[in-house]
Amino acid sequence: MTRLMCSIKLCENLRKDSRRFCFECDAFPCARIRHMDLRYRTKYHLSVIDNLVAIKRDGIRKFVQQETTRWRCPQCGSVLCVHKDRCLFCGAAKITKE
Ligand SMILES: [Zn+2]
Repeated sequence: MTRLMCSIKLCENLRKDSRRFCFECDAFPCARIRHMDLRYRTKYHLSVIDNLVAIKRDGIRKFVQQETTRWRCPQCGSVLCVHKDRCLFCGAAKITKE
């Protein structure tokens, strides 16, 4: 059986001092998060680094509030999947906002 391991979830720096976010680390943005950021920017048109910077600046509550609106299907109101181009529930094309 193949086990997939997330290198960020297993990051020893993130586990230190009960940190919740990568921006709390002196190494932010480290090579791990930069690689993930490049992959997500390329494939899904979103930046995990920009998201972390926004959370640091505005707080997690405001970020979640904005993301709740951003990732809502304009046609049926369902939550959109970041990994898919279309709404999984009604098939409407996802409008990419960066
Ligand atoms: Zn929909």
